[in-house]
Amino acid sequence: MRIVQKFGGTSVGSLERIRKTADIVQAELAHGNQVAVVVSAMSGETNRLTAMAREVSEQPAARELDALIATGEQVSAALLAMELQQRGVSAYSYSGGQAGFITDGSHERARIKNIEGNHLLAHMQSGEVPVVTGFQGVDERGNVTTLGRGGSDTSAVALAISVHANVCEIYTDVDGIYTTDPRIVPTACKIKRISYEEMLEFASLGAKVLQTRSVELAMRYDMPLHLRSSFEPVTGTMVVQEDETMERATISGVAYNRDEAKITIMGIPDQPGIAANVFGPVAEAGINVDVIVQNVSEQGYTDITFTVPCGDYQSTMNIMRSLCKQMDARDVKGDDSIAKVSVVGVGMRSHAGVAKEMFDVLANAGVNIQMITTSEIKITVVIEEKYIELAVRALHSAFGLDEEGS
Ligand code: ADP
Ligand code: ASP
Ligand code: MG
Repeated sequence: MRIVQKFGGTSVGSLERIRKTADIVQAELAHGNQVAVVVSAMSGETNRLTAMAREVSEQPAARELDALIATGEQVSAALLAMELQQRGVSAYSYSGGQAGFITDGSHERARIKNIEGNHLLAHMQSGEVPVVTGFQGVDERGNVTTLGRGGSDTSAVALAISVHANVCEIYTDVDGIYTTDPRIVPTACKIKRISYEEMLEFASLGAKVLQTRSVELAMRYDMPLHLRSSFEPVTGTMVVQEDETMERATISGVAYNRDEAKITIMGIPDQPGIAANVFGPVAEAGINVDVIVQNVSEQGYTDITFTVPCGDYQSTMNIMRSLCKQMDARDVKGDDSIAKVSVVGVGMRSHAGVAKEMFDVLANAGVNIQMITTSEIKITVVIEEKYIELAVRALHSAFGLDEEGS
């Protein structure tokens, strides 16, 4: 078998953890498998580097910030390669650029365009272990770029696709994907197999266990993912194509995201093209808009409310304030103390009434719903942030997801 193993921050968080990680790599080699490794920075390191940059400058240049935060992964790759070498394994570290990860030029949120050359595959075939830095690449001019927080997952999946691996193993600090974040609901259950589609919804709705883009890539190229623990040698969760053996519960899980802010532009003269006018400049600024609600027009005026990631809140407010003047709208209001909670499940396709049940549960818990959006396999509501844990627990329990016996 050919395997790409990705180790997250906690799995390389200390020299002791790096030794344990080397044990896992060696065990796979001992089974006769070909292995390439992708590593994250030691846990906390990317935050530490980012905070240091902000001490130097309030708005550091994106190019330099990327050059700085990409170093975290280089430290762990070199240390793991050294550890493997001293056990007699031919392992060599590669930065994103050395590994041939070519990205576009959008610093801090770059997308991998391709992985150049197949030298890593040749190394794997000759029994060597490439240890590649996750989270980074270089653009066409050779500038270092990074792929957004959590981006090492995406590096690993892209590498697995490029070397035609049989599986991409994502080692982390939980032993699988749970019906919700086990840190806030201890009774959450481990899911044995989950479809790409559900995992994609889960990830994009806030379950930060896998970066959304990594799931998108895995789904497009049908690359099986095995999310598992580097602390315990147990089988984790397989993320694969939907099949008949998957359980058909109505709801597979509950996801939440605190990282959103809400903006309302009020009293806009209602005429064709207003939505395009509002969202055009936001898109040009590279800001992703999530939930959108437009009110019914009253006496020729309407309101539009939408959410953006918290990090883009201030810049979006600035854009809206100047638009408000240009469009002769009445006012702009913002609120960054909101959160989003979603129930997800392919089973929803064949069950009616899930939305009603979700609204009942929230009403009984005394949680007010501010915005609602749905797709075929998910229902999302925006609520006040302080109720998020209460809402997640209530929904998890009401949809029968709590572990039996608890
Ligand atoms: P790594 O540093 O290894 O990439 P992350 O912190 O990015 O690890 O992802 C693992 C974390 O994801 C877990 O510790 C857990 O708290 C969180 N998480 C959120 N939602 C889920 C979920 N549904 N199932 C499992 N873990 C989840
Ligand atoms: N080190 C980066 C981060 O903390 C990338 C990753 O860990 O996946 O976001
Ligand atoms: Mg991660």
